[in-house]
Amino acid sequence: MIMPNNLGRQYSLHADEYKKKACEVLDSGWYILGKEVTAFEEEWAQYIGSKYCVGLASGLDALWISFRLLNIGAGDEVIVCANAYIACVMGITMNGSTPVFVEPDQYDNIDADKIEKAITNKTKAILAVHLYGQACDMTKIMDIAHKYNLKVVEDCAQSHGNHWDGKTVGTFGDVGCFSFYPSKGCGAFGDAGAIVTDNEELAKMLRIFRNYGSEKRYHNMMVGSNSRLDELQAGLLRVKLSHLDEFNSERCRIATRYDTEITNPLIQKPQIRPGADSTWHQYVVHVPGYRDELMEYLKAREIGTLIHYPIPPHLSDAYAYLGYRKGDFPITEKNADEVLSLPMYNGMTDDEQSVVIGAINSFKN
Ligand SMILES: *Cc1c(COP(=O)(O)O)cnc(C)c1O
Repeated sequence: MIMPNNLGRQYSLHADEYKKKACEVLDSGWYILGKEVTAFEEEWAQYIGSKYCVGLASGLDALWISFRLLNIGAGDEVIVCANAYIACVMGITMNGSTPVFVEPDQYDNIDADKIEKAITNKTKAILAVHLYGQACDMTKIMDIAHKYNLKVVEDCAQSHGNHWDGKTVGTFGDVGCFSFYPSKGCGAFGDAGAIVTDNEELAKMLRIFRNYGSEKRYHNMMVGSNSRLDELQAGLLRVKLSHLDEFNSERCRIATRYDTEITNPLIQKPQIRPGADSTWHQYVVHVPGYRDELMEYLKAREIGTLIHYPIPPHLSDAYAYLGYRKGDFPITEKNADEVLSLPMYNGMTDDEQSVVIGAINSFKN
């Protein structure tokens, strides 16, 4: 069985290092907000190219806490791609704001040319989601944000270390939000997240907010939350980060092989926007008309695939209250019926990939 993702493989590449670090943290007797968190925050900020990093409990927390501290809430609108992951939309609505959806382009990221039409006098921010590991067009997005005085929050949960125009994503907007959910590029061994920013005051407030609104113990200056990155995850993330460039290059090699060796004309391979690069969080093909059939065909050959994502947020039950109907975002809805994520994980063998490529090329051939 070839799985769509295989976290055990990546773990096994450096298992001894993780075990050593885990024991070190357990033996230290210090588990929350200590030296591992501080060190990881410094290392992550440096890796991304931001001044500050604040470790949090999840990627969703990074999103909603960003909006909260940027004062974006009830009555405000936030622009987001219609084909986003549901967490992106929840990050907006948790503060009472309204998501305003914009269709994606052929790169499966927000179509920046359609953003201006979606701006109203209630628009306060753009949430730029770097989906599947590929950067959005941050030049256009930042130009629009400056023109209309909007905040920009980057959702880099799937984009750990890729670039737009040579600059790492997460450094363009007011904040860059990261999830370290185990399947993400730099994945923890549990839940974890972070925000990067160059804004010193905002970084300070984020640190206070994540810890019940207190800087000094029992002196609570605001109603905050409990969203602390723990020492064990931070320590393990430091080990992961030390290998992240190797992981990203390996995924690029796997993607290049799919690009060159998949020849079945029914399969549309992912396109990369000129100026962007991808860390290949997912290798997403479009299979118009035959997606479900191909998925079954591969499953029968013991090859697992996934759909990111089968139900667009505007059609999910959670957002029925927004009043959208099928047909409101035709490109997004078409994508939901066409996209398929092929097996992609660190530690994937050449033989495994040959099996996947062979099966795909033999489909209806
Ligand atoms: C994973 C993910 C999130 C949420 O992160 P969690 O750590 O699971 O809360 C948000 N946005 C995107 C694009 C994601 O892929």
